Amino acid sequence: SVTRKPLIAGNWKMNLDHLQAVAFVQKLHWTLKDAAHETDSVEVVVFPPFTDIRTVQTLIDADKIPFALGAQDLSTKDSGAYTGEVSGAFLKKLAADYVIIGHSERREYHAESDEVVAAKVQAALRHDLVPVICVGETLEQREESGPTAVAVAQLRAALEGVSADADVVVAYEPVWAIGTGQVASPEQAQEVCAALRTVISESLGDAAAERTRILYGGSVKSGNIASFMREPDVDGALVGGASLLADEFAAIIRYQK
Ligand code: PEP
Repeated sequence: SVTRKPLIAGNWKMNLDHLQAVAFVQKLHWTLKDAAHETDSVEVVVFPPFTDIRTVQTLIDADKIPFALGAQDLSTKDSGAYTGEVSGAFLKKLAADYVIIGHSERREYHAESDEVVAAKVQAALRHDLVPVICVGETLEQREESGPTAVAVAQLRAALEGVSADADVVVAYEPVWAIGTGQVASPEQAQEVCAALRTVISESLGDAAAERTRILYGGSVKSGNIASFMREPDVDGALVGGASLLADEFAAIIRYQK
């Protein structure tokens, strides 16, 4: 859509310590800079581990690198006796703008329920962070209940109590396509992303549905990004593995070329 600025998001997961992060961000920046101003029409956001956020922020500031910064998770709470947790307030102080919520790896390995995901969305919004709400079905669920049912139910739950003017991003990430190399087809991505836009419309209204960006995630690479971006309800990508390779991620960002 002409009204939604494409968003290319790199989820580093638990990769790159803070020294490696410096080298990586510099390499990515220089790779893109050679292509002079061709990235203005795309918003780029990187999601490093918590321990890298300050480092990456300093680098972005010092070099005026046009990337936004996000965290991969946050606490449902704002402060207090919650050992090991990180508050949205702390992330905002480090100039983070985005936070990933409900990634399938957290739903699976940390038993994050739809209720926890909804509480984290509220926590993000309290601190003026844009939640990147991840939803998606396993292969078993797709075979059992069809392509859209799980993602639709997860998004409805996550948007409970969210106000119509809230700034959110949605990421459709079929679990069977994450880190597997088994990419969804553009048509499969479009089908679910369209259903998710309907959920946004029902939950937050038509204006929110029109303005909210919906990303596809799952084995996105430079060779397939353009085919997803051609779909009317796909407004960007959440990229895992390929976001750790500077040349590859730069090529994804420059998918229009
Ligand atoms: C992800 O973790 O959000 C993801 C999409 O991973 P990958 O690109 O490696 O499939």
